[in-house]
Amino acid sequence: MDPADRTNLLGLPRPALEEFVAALGGKPFHARQLMQWVYKRGADSFDAMTDLAKPLRQRLAEQAEIRAPAIGAVQQSADGTVKWQLKADAKQAFEMVFIPEPERGTLCISSQVGCALDCSFCATAQQGFNRNLSTAEIVGQVWLAVRELGLLSSADDSAAQAAERRVTNVVLMGMGEPLANLRNVVPALHILLDDFGFDLSRRRVTLSTSGLVPQIYRLAQETNVALAVSLHAPDDALRNQLVPINRKHPIAELLQACWHYLDEQNGRSVTFEYVMLEGVNDAPAQARALARLLRGHPAKVNLIPFNPFTGTRYRRSAPVVIQRFRDELLQRGVLATVRRTRGEDIDAACGQLAGRVIDRTTVRLGSKVIGIAVQP
Ligand code: SAH
Repeated sequence: MDPADRTNLLGLPRPALEEFVAALGGKPFHARQLMQWVYKRGADSFDAMTDLAKPLRQRLAEQAEIRAPAIGAVQQSADGTVKWQLKADAKQAFEMVFIPEPERGTLCISSQVGCALDCSFCATAQQGFNRNLSTAEIVGQVWLAVRELGLLSSADDSAAQAAERRVTNVVLMGMGEPLANLRNVVPALHILLDDFGFDLSRRRVTLSTSGLVPQIYRLAQETNVALAVSLHAPDDALRNQLVPINRKHPIAELLQACWHYLDEQNGRSVTFEYVMLEGVNDAPAQARALARLLRGHPAKVNLIPFNPFTGTRYRRSAPVVIQRFRDELLQRGVLATVRRTRGEDIDAACGQLAGRVIDRTTVRLGSKVIGIAVQP
């Protein structure tokens, strides 16, 4: 078989892998064994899989592969954050970021090469959109990070240092709009949650969306991961400017979809991300308006200090302004936290991921023509 035609196992959730193995003459339990090798031990070839019969291993070696995206570059921040630039092809790249904290290690992964949603404060938007990442490229990021973080550690690390390199949480908050690539994102989520896959609990996997309402309803039917929504404004007039998809799916519809998601999935709460832009959305009256929208609902607000990038017209709100905003929310019974900025020195903070993207969209989603680039 031409190596280019091999099936990448990182793209197959368990039922599809069972079918694939059956076609090679194997049994369902062989698929589970394979998953253990791939996800628990990080195997990337079939030779070592000695508990699989040799003929099956040979057929796998001929027709399948375990291939994560190739690394273009790695940067480590002074605060321990690591950013990888990964190759989408010879010319284009996307990024993923690992954020170590004392109690957890969060991996932030991408779902698309670029983004078509055109949010005015986001560096990814500036580059435009090229294509969706495949399931194997999405899962491959986690597989690769687990392996690379192991390689980064050295023999004389303390237990605490080693724990700091464990991926305990995955957030789809890198480049791209995950709900515009549902077809590839949903199987990837299933592999992240599968006991034989990465075995992550549903509360440790978070999908963040700019607010594609119909896709939130679809997501509710297909998975139960934690949901985060990029709200950024308490009213439609302002949100239309900051997050143009709001013109198609205004705030009231978006919030309804969020509460539906929680009902369907028996979820605890939705996290609303709110980037703090000086003089734009950070006034106390806007905090009070936001509180009126969310009060009484299972919602948490995560205030994100704006991270600047070249060419932006926005500035970050001052720390006292952010605190005041948070306090206005808290006083009205709305849970609110401020996201600590990490990896800023290597452009790895929220909204700074750019990679290398060749724009293929003539008209961006959210402006005039809405509906391109959203894959069912
Ligand atoms: N497209 C999805 C996934 C990206 S998540 C979404 O919009 O939710 C990245 C988060 O960082 C989003 O909440 C996004 O709005 C926020 N963000 C974008 N640009 C930013 C910037 N310059 N500074 C801080 N946060 C930013």
